[in-house]
Amino acid sequence: MTPSDLPTFDDVRAAAARLQGHAHRTPVLTSRTADAATGAQFFFKCENLQRMGAFKFRGAFNALAQFDAAQRRAGVVAFSSGNHAQAVALAARLLGMPATIVMPHDAPAAKLAATRGYGAEVRLYDRYTEDREQIGRQLAAERGMTLIPPYDHPHVIAGQGTAALELLEDAGPLDALFVPLGGGGLLSGCALAARALAPGCKVFGVEPEAGNDGQRSLREGRIVHIDTPQTLADGAQTQHLGDYTFAIIRDKVDDILTASDAELVEAMRFFAERMKLVVEPTGCLAFAAARRVASQWQGRRVGVVLSGGNVDLARYAQLLAGQGVAA
Ligand SMILES: *Cc1c(COP(=O)(O)O)cnc(C)c1O
Repeated sequence: MTPSDLPTFDDVRAAAARLQGHAHRTPVLTSRTADAATGAQFFFKCENLQRMGAFKFRGAFNALAQFDAAQRRAGVVAFSSGNHAQAVALAARLLGMPATIVMPHDAPAAKLAATRGYGAEVRLYDRYTEDREQIGRQLAAERGMTLIPPYDHPHVIAGQGTAALELLEDAGPLDALFVPLGGGGLLSGCALAARALAPGCKVFGVEPEAGNDGQRSLREGRIVHIDTPQTLADGAQTQHLGDYTFAIIRDKVDDILTASDAELVEAMRFFAERMKLVVEPTGCLAFAAARRVASQWQGRRVGVVLSGGNVDLARYAQLLAGQGVAA
């Protein structure tokens, strides 16, 4: 990777044009209750209402839409047990190309079904004895398929950035923007948009307390690797940032905060009860931290990305009822 490979705000704009008519322009909601409780003025970008239930559709579609004819014929391969799998499967179907998703054999049945439901072939692997990256690369080599990673890819980053582009267009100027952080595709893309459209806006990533590799990476100035963190935020159980995402985050993000599992559940309950929104635990990261530090944002305009809403309903009910999380 060289600096000239890094995506720019122009790439975010180009992604927005590609996504037009394919991705939803998700609503930006406000909450008098949240504002009254904190003194800040919140603007929630509702990517839980995006197609397939998370922002990841943006990056996947933007990447696949740029395949050339040969790539389209051979199709795409991805490895993921989460939202990236469904995003790639749906984008491939819409663009009329084959997709193979490498998923662990013990992935939740609902996720396997959803991925197959979008028309993708699922290649199961044993997460204890097989290496999914190797399987993905082998498929790519054997069948000429193109591998699209979940976050560390310029086209994926540019696509994810359209969420903040729309938020800033619809909400107007912001003083701060809080974004969930896993591998950093969403945060780096949103930072590109925020720096270009709202230079004075502070940009914060929020990752699970149990896995603060992003925070450490920003502070130490190098990509810190950790073991897979144990957290309710299953969309942010990444072990490290990527080369592209770290380069952008280091340059354009002000700080990285963390949220505990208990704070995620509290935020999830707030969204369900007060805003009638189903937000998955990972999707609650940004608000969980933003409400904690809201005293610093009195009377200020604060953007919060709700990144997704895909949560098993039985699990959701348990968590809302206060079961299954240590306080
Ligand atoms: C993937 C995902 C994230 C983290 O995104 P990165 O680009 O990996 O940082 C956050 N929230 C949800 C719902 C996700 O699916």
